[in-house]
Amino acid sequence: MCPATRARRALGAALACLLAAGLAAACGKEGSPPGKGPAPERLPHYRVARDVRLPASPTWTRAKRRGHLVVGVKEDQPYLGEKDPATGTYAGFDIEIAKMMSASLGFPPRSVRFRTIASANRETALQNGQIDLYVGTYTINAGRAKLVGFAGPYYLAGQSLLVRRAEDDIHGPGDLAGRRVCSAAGSTPYQRLKADYPKAVLVAYDTYSVCVDNLLTYQVDAVTTDDAILIGYAAKAPRELKVVGKPFSEEPYGIGVPRGDTALRLALDDALRARERDGDWKKAYDATLGLSGVPAPHPPTIDRHPAS
Ligand code: GLU
Repeated sequence: MCPATRARRALGAALACLLAAGLAAACGKEGSPPGKGPAPERLPHYRVARDVRLPASPTWTRAKRRGHLVVGVKEDQPYLGEKDPATGTYAGFDIEIAKMMSASLGFPPRSVRFRTIASANRETALQNGQIDLYVGTYTINAGRAKLVGFAGPYYLAGQSLLVRRAEDDIHGPGDLAGRRVCSAAGSTPYQRLKADYPKAVLVAYDTYSVCVDNLLTYQVDAVTTDDAILIGYAAKAPRELKVVGKPFSEEPYGIGVPRGDTALRLALDDALRARERDGDWKKAYDATLGLSGVPAPHPPTIDRHPAS
């Protein structure tokens, strides 16, 4: 390996450590700037609904009996769902959505447990009762709605591309022929690239953070998933990474619930609508995803998904 390549790889490895750890401090390098994630003291508090009764929902009833709600989330998506390795605390916009929905269902923060579930395992986790809800950049689509129920949507993202800052040849999905492109197994961006851009060389891992490590260490040339996710990674390493081109899909984020639990799904739709009206949704966005530099959009219309 020539010295320049070696130096580049070393830089990549250092950055990969920075991203993997979430915070520069965790890499043990004195003087590194801390990653600017959501500040706990800025996060809104959500009014916990009292006397909630949802006997028609088997999921809610089981959670009440158990004494806590179990919510599936992501743990490596900056500003959306990120777990602090030191404290085990989860933070981000999806986590706030989960907290406000839990509060509306009558579960205060101390009665909510988060569990990390990768993209490929969401449907199974909801089907086998491992989790009660799922809130983690989960696109509503017809195929998934055969397996799980969806409340929402609560946010509209779009598929995009993340590349190294020095990359000059990739501006959109049409430039990916022969290039190595990473995405998460079981995700809609992975499926779309495979179907619509077959000349790209697809690489799949369980999580996007592993894809980003691979991008920083020159193992792949691009990472593809939702812009909301990629903007977070780029904001954490702005000198090394950039998001390019325009979004080339629509990814409406839903709250996954066990299929057939209509009472829970409709209660969540109502709760979302109420939290959008009273300003909690915007406060949550501003304190989390808004930190990546994109101002709060209007939340998409909640469409009470009929089939699930
Ligand atoms: N929103 C897309 C999906 O649900 C990509 C993000 C993810 O994998 O969570 O598949």
